[in-house]
Amino acid sequence: MNEAAYLNELAKCVRCGACKSRCPTYLTVLDETTGARGRITMLGALMGDRLAPSKRLSEKIFECILCGACKGLCPTGIDILETIYHGRIRLKGFYNKGHLLMMAMRLSASRMNSAFFILRGAQKLLYHSLYKLNKFPYIPEIASISFKEASQVYPVRKKFSPSEFSNGVYKGTKRIGRVAIFVGCSVNYFYPHLGDSLLNVLLSKDYEVVVLKGEVCCGSPMRSLGLEAEAIALAKKNVELFSRVKADAILSLCPTCTITIKNEYPLLIGDGIEKMMDVNEFLINNDFYKGLKISPRVVSYHDPCHLNYGLGIRNEPREILKNIDGIEFVEMEDAGDCCGFGGLFSINFKELSQRIGNKKVKSIHNTHIDTLVTSCPGCITQFESIKRQVGFDIDILHIIELIDMAIRGYEV
Ligand code: SF4
Ligand code: SF4
Repeated sequence: MNEAAYLNELAKCVRCGACKSRCPTYLTVLDETTGARGRITMLGALMGDRLAPSKRLSEKIFECILCGACKGLCPTGIDILETIYHGRIRLKGFYNKGHLLMMAMRLSASRMNSAFFILRGAQKLLYHSLYKLNKFPYIPEIASISFKEASQVYPVRKKFSPSEFSNGVYKGTKRIGRVAIFVGCSVNYFYPHLGDSLLNVLLSKDYEVVVLKGEVCCGSPMRSLGLEAEAIALAKKNVELFSRVKADAILSLCPTCTITIKNEYPLLIGDGIEKMMDVNEFLINNDFYKGLKISPRVVSYHDPCHLNYGLGIRNEPREILKNIDGIEFVEMEDAGDCCGFGGLFSINFKELSQRIGNKKVKSIHNTHIDTLVTSCPGCITQFESIKRQVGFDIDILHIIELIDMAIRGYEV
């Protein structure tokens, strides 16, 4: 968003408040400065010199989860999310809480393997005591071997040739199509087993699967910290890499990566990755769920915000689940409400993140399920955290795990 568009967006606000009707931070704190309308008003005041940039103001703008629940609610058509991103670029110098993270993100943006190697050491040494002291939110264990390290990955050379994929590529026996995976940091470092499940599901249907060397972070964490230039650099690297791959689809298990690449790259660099797709959409389009069976489970589904509000994918996962023999599907109350994770939000605003998450506890209890399914590694982290706090005895699964279980014929 350029300067003129930003000012134009802010000027359109008529203070009606429609945007805060679904805003999870507002609905939890019930304070105008912690809601969508308040943020737009404060950014407008900042531009009109009625408010000075400050630590407190920046915290209020960075306190937005970037969930997108306010999307489409504004009668004057303000793109609230993009306006908040732009406000963060202006205020990042005042956001003290984020300084350390910004420095770490700048240093590690294109060196994720080394960064996660160091983080893993730190996690082993310090994390458990800090977690017990309630200084840190629940963070899943960083895998000793990342998904890409354990996979056969492919360097994509300047000139793409199909023969590059002839040695070691994951091949189904009949090869009905080729799919590339955008792995993303959460699957690569925290949940490599989700990547394994996706591989298995695709191979079971004879897809050729390509995992590429050279993929970098989608850039979403950088953007959330106001580091637009860093996010742009990453977007260019990913577009350059994936545009040289011939595939029927490029799949992601993380809705934040998907929405960043699909919807935000075109705004950032004027170009995107055309075949980028959420896994649910691909599975529905290609009839993956038919004929699947698992032993009886009572299952409900939680909508990840970026999939729900951002990409409009709500029915696909439900259709998949309802069609698996053995699943009794129960709709959960407020299934579309944010879980409160929000990536770095859960670290910088731990208490608010937990308060938003705890609102889901009642819905889960009232639904009497034994399995909660979602389609986002971040939501899984948040629900695992809630499970530890309240002692839930339920399985929390990514939808790809459930499908993989059904295909392999085993249970978690
Ligand atoms: S993105 Fe979410 S948290 Fe941020 S203002 Fe909109 S509804 Fe509120
Ligand atoms: S919905 Fe739009 S016009 Fe109404 S308060 Fe929110 S940003 Fe302003």
